[in-house]
Amino acid sequence: MSEQAISDSAFAAFLDQGQLQGSRCTSCEAVFVPPRGWCPKCHQSDMQWTRTSGTGRLFAFSCIAIGPPWMAAYGYDRDHPYCSAVVELDEGPRVVGRLEGVDTNDPENIKIGMWLVLQQDDSKSDDSRICPVFSPV
Ligand SMILES: [Zn+2]
Repeated sequence: MSEQAISDSAFAAFLDQGQLQGSRCTSCEAVFVPPRGWCPKCHQSDMQWTRTSGTGRLFAFSCIAIGPPWMAAYGYDRDHPYCSAVVELDEGPRVVGRLEGVDTNDPENIKIGMWLVLQQDDSKSDDSRICPVFSPV
């Protein structure tokens, strides 16, 4: 699958396999997750897939009790907020995902800098939204 074109659908397929893949610029080595088809740093389009470790640290988060309809369809509501997180991967890029395995009703116990690892997302519906899911190590 490493020869596959850089695309959101390929990114989603990698996530389905438990892999968090990004794109690496062949010129300046910058890494982007989700992947980009061109490099905004050096403005060239020769990008290659690169697999990340799927681990990183919590950079920022927000617990959301009143979310969009598709999150309500997953069972998230005022009694069961979900946590949207920015994770700084070990490789450097920051990626937005959902944080599971934390008490979203007690966000003061969710700590910036805590170690996180990519999880397999079992909550998918057929709307094929792409969202990496992390949980504490
Ligand atoms: Zn570049």
